[in-house]
Amino acid sequence: MNAPVEIARPAVPEAAPPAPRHADAMRAAREANKLSKRLHRLMGQAIADFNMIEPGDTVMVCMSGGKDSHVMLDILLSLRERAPVDFDLVAVNLDQKQPGFPAHVLPDYLQSRGVRFHIEEQDTYSIVKRVIPEGKTMCSLCSRLRRGILYRLAGELGATKIALGHHRDDILQTFFLNMFHGGQLKGMPPKLVSDDGRHIVIRPLAYVEEADLQRWADIRAFPIIPCTLCGSQENLQRKQVAAMLREWDKRHPGRLETMFTALTKVVPSHLMDRTAYPFTTLRARGEPEPGGDIAFDDEPCVPPAHHPGVEREGAAVVQWFKDAAADD
Ligand code: SF4
Repeated sequence: MNAPVEIARPAVPEAAPPAPRHADAMRAAREANKLSKRLHRLMGQAIADFNMIEPGDTVMVCMSGGKDSHVMLDILLSLRERAPVDFDLVAVNLDQKQPGFPAHVLPDYLQSRGVRFHIEEQDTYSIVKRVIPEGKTMCSLCSRLRRGILYRLAGELGATKIALGHHRDDILQTFFLNMFHGGQLKGMPPKLVSDDGRHIVIRPLAYVEEADLQRWADIRAFPIIPCTLCGSQENLQRKQVAAMLREWDKRHPGRLETMFTALTKVVPSHLMDRTAYPFTTLRARGEPEPGGDIAFDDEPCVPPAHHPGVEREGAAVVQWFKDAAADD
């Protein structure tokens, strides 16, 4: 029997990647435009609300090379173009001599943006490695060393404000971390005097949520440098709180926004800090007191949606009120 004849098959041409559809591109451009406007609005709002930047200020923008600091610089540069006040920016990066740190990335980028910058080379990596035992997290000492260096640089560069890239989610996480682990009702302020009393620290991203920063960093394709080159584990407690907040927001959309608003509406008379409200010397004045005690809360008592026991109890209470009303 003759051997079967091999028939050469024509080579299948490799499928070309589908060209982006015009409508998709248009939608992406519209979304990017909306995001840009939102970032400008929220940063402008935070700056105005807390009087973060004043005429003649030199703002030292602390650049770690991560997405947050990149977005902060990007939008500050844009706001400076349009702002009615005249202020200067100087970007600062601390090269901590971590192995593998791509030292050319930030200088190249900052040069391309035409912004004044300073790269400070300090081998804090070796110090942290030497002092912290193997396996322990190094972030706390690392941050303290960085803080000291940044304060010194602010003085040397004539900076009147130090801008840090913390955002809304950092602020909320810090609030819960302080409550859960520090026993304090304390967050991360948009503006405060530094702990050495010599500088004003500002957080222009205070109103911006992290997801928007990630989106803008993706759109603008910033050259991101990760903060994990040192091999340190990230703060586990912060990660847990971040996961808890994400879960809450997934189950109850808008909850993070509400909690963030709550941080701007503190009522010391309805808390228990005797240093924040003069409870011990309180006297009734015999006049209606706006914000005075109302004996019982007047919030609607909505049973939590994901707690069947409470739901049953809540339904029983509602039924009781209905029955009582029908009896009247
Ligand atoms: S991850 Fe590394 S570089 Fe970043 S703060 Fe922690 S120790 Fe410092």
